[in-house]
Amino acid sequence: MKLYTTITSLQNALNEEHSKGLKIGFVPTMGALHEGHLSLVTKAGSMCDIVVVSIFVNPTQFNDKKDLANYPRTLESDMKLLSTVRCDYIFSPSVGEVYPVPDTRKFDFGTLETVMEGEFRPGHFNGVAQVVSRLFEIVLPDKAFFGRKDFQQMAVIRALVRQLNLPIGIVPCDIVRETDGLAMSSRNKLLLPEYRTCAPLIYKTLKEAKELDRTATVDEVKKFVVNQINTTQLLKVEYFQIVDDTTLMPIESWSESGTKVGCIAVYAGNVRLIDNIIF
Ligand code: AMP
Repeated sequence: MKLYTTITSLQNALNEEHSKGLKIGFVPTMGALHEGHLSLVTKAGSMCDIVVVSIFVNPTQFNDKKDLANYPRTLESDMKLLSTVRCDYIFSPSVGEVYPVPDTRKFDFGTLETVMEGEFRPGHFNGVAQVVSRLFEIVLPDKAFFGRKDFQQMAVIRALVRQLNLPIGIVPCDIVRETDGLAMSSRNKLLLPEYRTCAPLIYKTLKEAKELDRTATVDEVKKFVVNQINTTQLLKVEYFQIVDDTTLMPIESWSESGTKVGCIAVYAGNVRLIDNIIF
């Protein structure tokens, strides 16, 4: 496992792998790694010859400067964790290395970037598209691995790849959870104990909502989820939407065709958690 912090040194190493015809799998992350990230790295290892993991806290996707400042940065323990699976290259660049000049590119993903996360985190997906396209350009992967936990992000990345006509396969990976059901997240480290104790209610409620979908209307299920989570004073739902998994547009009735996904964002104190479930 080799660590590179500059684009040139990484590209020199990867050029050799490319020239041997080896397939490169890429896992972009912001570090503070956990088993969820490792599942992506393991999947990349099972589908590709070479695995590249980037660790970069991308400032352009944070609409909240405090969130950016508080985001955990744990390169040493990340490297230890990555040494337990097959990871060939870690790319951990500085902000100046990724953005030698400010990235002023504006992407347009239509409603994919304006609903749900897009409504509450303006500019977030533009920042995600900036960093992912930049990293793709640097790594030139054959396949890139993304978690279904960031469901909307995956839809945006697929749109990005289509728009830029990139020859990169996007591989979705299942959500990895703690034993109590809480979706693993780097932000879980920031939860104070009382918030950590009640956070599993989010997934418990999503599972109960899924059970209700035969007997209750879409609206009733939405109200059930919001009310049940908000009953604990410590959690506050920012949004809960049931959407079509491709268009991300809210559905009105269960009879609509297509796969439906319930997507939620919840504040546990000042830590923002997201999760989703397929109905
Ligand atoms: P992040 O470091 O939060 O930007 O996440 C990097 C990648 O890991 C993204 O594709 C996430 O969707 C994925 N990821 C984060 N948490 C999980 C999880 N609990 N299960 C599966 N994938 C995850």
